[in-house]
Amino acid sequence: MNFRKSRKLMWIGFAVGIIIMLSGIALENEKVIGGFMAVGAIIFFAALIQAYIFYNCPHCGESLMNVRGSIPEHCPKCGEKLE
Ligand SMILES: [Zn+2]
Repeated sequence: MNFRKSRKLMWIGFAVGIIIMLSGIALENEKVIGGFMAVGAIIFFAALIQAYIFYNCPHCGESLMNVRGSIPEHCPKCGEKLE
């Protein structure tokens, strides 16, 4: 998996995880809310964990998780172009 896919997957995972958790709350059913929360949280954290593993510089391996905003054009550590 390359870092661009990883970043996309992270945001999709965050969105899907949050939507599932909110759906659980919206249903107002105590029996299912725990399940929705658990599944939503698992998807959310899976998205985060894969980003820590795969969202890094393809040249030096520096994690890009600390870079705010969009994907930087150049790696903050080695200065190589990210593409
Ligand atoms: Zn780098």
